[in-house]
Amino acid sequence: MDSSTYLNEDRHRSGRRFARRLYVPRIIGLATGFFCVSSVLVTQPVSGWWWLLLVAYGFIWPHFAWQTADRSSNPARAEIRNLMIDSLMGGVWIAVMGMNALPSALIMAMLCMNNVGCGGVKLFLSGLGVIVLSSLLTLSLLHIPLNLQTMPSQVWICLPFLLVYPTYFGLVSYRTALKLSEHKRRLMHMSTRDGMTGVYNRRHWEHLLHGEYDNCQRYQRNATLLLIDIDHFKSINDSYGHDVGDEAILAITEHLQLTLRITDVIGRFGGDEFGVIMSGTPQESAIQAMARVREYLQEFHLPHAPLISLRISVGVAEFDSGMVNYREWLKAADVALYKAKNLGRSRTEVADIAA
Ligand code: GH3
Ligand code: MG
Repeated sequence: MDSSTYLNEDRHRSGRRFARRLYVPRIIGLATGFFCVSSVLVTQPVSGWWWLLLVAYGFIWPHFAWQTADRSSNPARAEIRNLMIDSLMGGVWIAVMGMNALPSALIMAMLCMNNVGCGGVKLFLSGLGVIVLSSLLTLSLLHIPLNLQTMPSQVWICLPFLLVYPTYFGLVSYRTALKLSEHKRRLMHMSTRDGMTGVYNRRHWEHLLHGEYDNCQRYQRNATLLLIDIDHFKSINDSYGHDVGDEAILAITEHLQLTLRITDVIGRFGGDEFGVIMSGTPQESAIQAMARVREYLQEFHLPHAPLISLRISVGVAEFDSGMVNYREWLKAADVALYKAKNLGRSRTEVADIAA
């Protein structure tokens, strides 16, 4: 399937969801609105056809509207058309009621609320135009006399429409807002974390390192940076396969998380390389922490490859106010790691800052 097909499917799905979201609110709004309009129509002589149309619109249209949107090749566009039909019919009912004040104002308010909630100012303005035009046209074509006054009994009959529909609409908006914030949280998580290990990805970890560097410079604080690389990792992959290699990466991540402080910022720097920012920590403490990780690894065996001894090389660089930017700090740790590899691996080397 090519990308444009995926895009179309996605658009279709989200359009369907949009139409589905309006299905129940439309059922509720039109059912309560039915009684509102009926309360006026019973007081004035209208033909039976209007009653038939009112019943069909109040109780059949919501299902028909959903079916047409659901079956459409472009459900979002079909639903916008349905909203315009709602506005058109709202204008017609306002005119048929002789613009009876309260029901007319309520119908207008509910339609405007719906339109602005579904399509912003543009749909609100289009809907308003349709309501005004259709009511004026119906009034003038059918010569309906104005009947502005609302009786107390009509006010009571309109109450469910006034209370139930906006409350339900608010509930739908609230749920949508909750879903959106959950999506945002998930996206945030995905964009900052490494998919396999769950620790920070390189981009975000470097961003945090940049922040740490700025803080250390501004507040004369101390911090130590470590780069950790698994020794001879390629041979684990080559001898036991990538699954065991992945298992080793996950095991190292877990050991780092268990052994280091909660405030230490762990990131997966690359394939088998990790970075750790130890805020407010001198390099001696960082080296001790690495010794604890090593002790732990010496006793540890991968469940699917117990013969492998996982060993790590570590480059350590303490913050120094003479470093011009965070990249220089990172470079110092990288040079120290390179040194550890060159001196035989499975060891921790400290950056020579003065050099
Ligand atoms: P050295 O001791 O010098 O570090 O040797 P090494 O074999 O560990 O070399 P290096 O660190 O360069 O190897 C990294 C390898 O990690 C290369 C790549 O095939 C492998 N790798 C990178 N990402 C993944 C991953 O997500 N899973 C697995 N299984 N392997 C990975
Ligand atoms: Mg390696």
